[in-house]
Amino acid sequence: MLKKLSSHAIGKTARWLLFSEGKLLIDPKTQLPPVAAWENLQELHHHQDSIYQLLPLENENYSSHHYVIDLGNENIATLPFNTASLRSVLMAFPLEFSVISRAWQYTHFYRTHRYCGQCGMPTTKVDWEVAIHCHHCSHRVYPRVSPCVIMAIYKDNEILLAKGVRHKESGMFSTLAGFVESGESLEQAVHREVKEEVGVEIENLEYFGSQPWPFPHSLMVGYIAKYKQGEIQIDKTEIVEAEWFNLDNLPLIPPTFSIAGQLIQAVKNRQ
Ligand SMILES: [Zn+2]
Repeated sequence: MLKKLSSHAIGKTARWLLFSEGKLLIDPKTQLPPVAAWENLQELHHHQDSIYQLLPLENENYSSHHYVIDLGNENIATLPFNTASLRSVLMAFPLEFSVISRAWQYTHFYRTHRYCGQCGMPTTKVDWEVAIHCHHCSHRVYPRVSPCVIMAIYKDNEILLAKGVRHKESGMFSTLAGFVESGESLEQAVHREVKEEVGVEIENLEYFGSQPWPFPHSLMVGYIAKYKQGEIQIDKTEIVEAEWFNLDNLPLIPPTFSIAGQLIQAVKNRQ
């Protein structure tokens, strides 16, 4: 959850989640969002009425306040920070994943809802919840979450992995994944995506877990499924290559901070 902060309530020292265009500002020493006292951040003082506090989720315990400021396309060259892509920070510091990705999703939401989608008038941020409101036509919008199913398919001691078009160069193989369509259940989406992407049928779907994925607002919902029938036939618009891999001889796969990596590990652990 995000809370609007009044300038007099700014805590002495806080961790600052500062977004400049699509980048995150980081402390060059730690490579993480800086921890600093507000009085030492003079360059940001003109943003004092647009600071939000990121509140901890269940099971999270912050040692200091976390504040979010969207600098938009402003580049404050005098700040002693570097910029880094979200992906690179998340890859390097998986434990920071939840905090940074949440701050980014809220920032992205406000940035992309400055005007009403219904009547085109400027919108206002709602103070007491994360939402924007149009006073002209009463349209209210909440941050969008786009569910995406992700599934590991196994057969005996093998797992079906695919190399997506985006990973053509890296050579990484991963589980299949795809967006849930309007009006579709998660389970229907799993069956449809598998059929569309690799042409096989599956059975015995088991829910595995979920992970928010901030590029830009997905919620990955993981399943493990058993192969039923069919030969691999790939959809070349999305996939370069798909194969059955022996679980003891896997190719380059995603790290286990991602749900894709966790799904593959879970199937491997079942052997
Ligand atoms: Zn409107």
